[in-house]
Amino acid sequence: MKVYNTLTKKKEELIPLEEGKIKMYVCGPTVYNLIHIGNARPMIVFDTVRRYMEYKGYEVNYVSNFTDVDDKIIKKAIEEGVEASVISERYIAECKKDMEAMNVKPATVHPKATEEICGMLDMIETLIKKGHAYIAEDGTVYYRTRSFKEYGKLSHKNLDDLQGGNRSLLVTGQDQKEDALDFVLWKPKKEGEPYWESPWCDGRPGWHIECSVMSRKYLGDEIDIHAGGEDLIFPHHENEIAQSEAANGKPFARYWMHNGFLNIDNRKMSKSAGNFFTVREISEKYDLQVLRFFMLSAHYRSPLNFSRELMEAAANGYDRIVTCVGNLNYRMENASAEAMDGEETKLTKEAAEFARKFDEAMDDDFNTADAIAAIFELVKFANTNTGEKSSREFLQKLKNEILTLCQVCGLIVEKRKEMLDEDIEALIAQRQSARKAKDFKRADEIRNQLLERGIVLEDTREGVKWKRA
Ligand code: AMP
Ligand code: ZN
Repeated sequence: MKVYNTLTKKKEELIPLEEGKIKMYVCGPTVYNLIHIGNARPMIVFDTVRRYMEYKGYEVNYVSNFTDVDDKIIKKAIEEGVEASVISERYIAECKKDMEAMNVKPATVHPKATEEICGMLDMIETLIKKGHAYIAEDGTVYYRTRSFKEYGKLSHKNLDDLQGGNRSLLVTGQDQKEDALDFVLWKPKKEGEPYWESPWCDGRPGWHIECSVMSRKYLGDEIDIHAGGEDLIFPHHENEIAQSEAANGKPFARYWMHNGFLNIDNRKMSKSAGNFFTVREISEKYDLQVLRFFMLSAHYRSPLNFSRELMEAAANGYDRIVTCVGNLNYRMENASAEAMDGEETKLTKEAAEFARKFDEAMDDDFNTADAIAAIFELVKFANTNTGEKSSREFLQKLKNEILTLCQVCGLIVEKRKEMLDEDIEALIAQRQSARKAKDFKRADEIRNQLLERGIVLEDTREGVKWKRA
């Protein structure tokens, strides 16, 4: 399996620190609003990377944080007149709903910055002791960037160029810094803001320290893969390396993976620019599986332009797979023969070639565009080589192969059969009888059974009403 490593600017063979295991950290969102589809790109991309590694037999320990203390969260809390945690908890819950709707698997751990302050104090203390950080008069703790000789190795920037040339690349801060390149590890509280006690001042952490600390706590000093959007390369990931390697005295992550931007009219989609669609908005127009399909139809490192035309094309592509699986199911129900004949056995072997192509594409730095092309070839093969005479076993084999590859991409392509109205009403009648007999356990069971099939019940004065969710 080859992975493009931002650190070396090369595709490299993936060699885990520990055989058969992958330790992976993905920088998660700052939770002050509903996530937009630009934020969804790393979620979908790295979820697919994780799924592929699991399919290849790796045990993946996947950590992704929520940044739940930040200026924007605090600003929103002040606007609404609530605690910052009310805002962050609300949007963590909403983000988890969106992730589930996009079929993004929950991480092994989703740590939150505010619950890891102790670890941050600890790492900052170490950095001060080792001479990599210093305390300014007002209690701000800065990282002494020039003390870390390899600073710039990820973003391939030279310290002097940073200092002299492009000022927009400088980490902005107050005047108490020894050097313009130094960045904040801890800063004093401001009126009305959440804060924690520390040996330096009551205050809160800078943004970068949280990821170094959470990654160490949940995965160890050294990890295999660290990932995020390409805007994080500098300064966020560069600063994480400086913090972790200086504090732990060990290399931090072996492979650094970055997804390209999701653009709109060729500009990065972002909250601050206002050119965004939330995942929630998109879900009103499209099945989110279509969004997932759209994201995976491009290579993760390429920029991807969001447009209605491309979403329509993705909807058509996705439907082609869903229809094929639906047809295979229909044929299976009506198949006359159980077992495969010689010809079908031969065809099954031919079909395995598509899975090989799929793997080959994914092994080449997760080329999902080519992997999806291999799924399409398999779909075409299934459409042309099955018919009324196909055996159930053959149909099942082809279907399983399609489902397996789609599952690696996190695509749900088998639609559940909708329940018929009369079956729903029969169950509701049974629930009513159970309630009359005071068998509330049974009544709840029926309600849940219906809920699982997407049917929501509402008890009203006029009786029970139901709708499809
Ligand atoms: P943020 O909440 O801005 O810290 O972003 C969370 C994640 O989304 C980070 O990995 C960002 O790099 C990523 N991200 C934000 N905007 C985009 C975009 N337009 N395209 C791709 N990734 C993005
Ligand atoms: Zn991070």
